[in-house]
Amino acid sequence: MQIPFFPPDLFEGDRKVMLDLIREIGTAPEQKFILGEHTRAFEDLLRAELGAADVVACGSGTAALGLVLRAMDVGTCDEVVVPAFGCAPLASAVLEVGAQPVFADVDPRTMVVDPGEVEARITHRTKAIMPAHMFSVMADMPRFAGIAAARGVRLLEDSAVAQGAVLDGTPAGLWGEAGVYSFVQVKSFGMPGEGGAVVTRDPELGRRVRMLRNHGQRERFVHEVVGVNSRFDEFQAAFQSYRYTGLAERLERRARIAEHYTERFAGLPGLEPPPPGRNGRCYYVYCVQSDRRDELRGFLAEKGIGSHVYYPQPLPSQPAFARHAPVGERWPNAERACARILALPIYPHLTDAEVERVADAVEEFSTHVR
Ligand SMILES: *Cc1c(COP(=O)(O)O)cnc(C)c1O
Repeated sequence: MQIPFFPPDLFEGDRKVMLDLIREIGTAPEQKFILGEHTRAFEDLLRAELGAADVVACGSGTAALGLVLRAMDVGTCDEVVVPAFGCAPLASAVLEVGAQPVFADVDPRTMVVDPGEVEARITHRTKAIMPAHMFSVMADMPRFAGIAAARGVRLLEDSAVAQGAVLDGTPAGLWGEAGVYSFVQVKSFGMPGEGGAVVTRDPELGRRVRMLRNHGQRERFVHEVVGVNSRFDEFQAAFQSYRYTGLAERLERRARIAEHYTERFAGLPGLEPPPPGRNGRCYYVYCVQSDRRDELRGFLAEKGIGSHVYYPQPLPSQPAFARHAPVGERWPNAERACARILALPIYPHLTDAEVERVADAVEEFSTHVR
């Protein structure tokens, strides 16, 4: 029996609701498929639950980053400090608005961008800093908030992977002037399609983002600023509003699986589990670091257990971004993470027996395989 890294039956339990919603919205008299009442209701739901001033649903998590950068007037000649280790949008969203990403190294243990490294890269051209929560650990937002205030730069929180996580009582997304969520399938609140949201405590920033996502208009055919098309689908909004009810329970199941893995992995030779705990943790992806990562991955595959390497290369070494990185600069902790990281299955409907099988296999590899 295989345990895939990512489940093929993610929405199976909600199939009937999904089909009913498609029929309902597809045959409704108003024939409204984007930015209608369901999108508004979904935004209102998230805003109320979060205690945010505004939540603006948009085309993707990547688009959400771009919308916030535009709303903050980040553009040509500006620099934005981003993590050297993470997903492509951290760099591409900045380049897309015409600004320069400046790559900062990560903490070797948590693999989250290091506040000291970020602060060291702030120059007179820095307009914003953009820490990102990674896998299961939130960035050190109290320090980033302090740095942003002290150095007079904007703070954009890439909370794409951390919806539902809380650090020192403040939810992920509300630490920055704006935060983002992603609803792409693989994320903790993923859906069958593309989508994301901007969340903010600042009503004016929210208004700007709302205008920018729909061609810079508040009123139809009055374009106040140059915007983009980053609108939200009505069916997905209705489906997400329905699925929100079970989110807390699914996140709790992820956290428990993670806790169990971390307990089982403590003290295993050559293996480093993520830091335990609940404060500032989001169990989107469970990553261990191993000195023998590729061997471990092969061993798990032989036992029918899927795993995944996020991310195989630091962002500034990627062909697309290398020419935006200073020649000769290195990001040793990002490089080390790329060589050692391995993500294990953690989706909520893994059975206890499957979780045990994964844990047993990792333990067997660490203690018996030489
Ligand atoms: C997934 C992700 C994004 C982008 O979200 P999409 O919805 O896939 O565009 C941005 N930042 C981080 C850290 C992510 O993990």
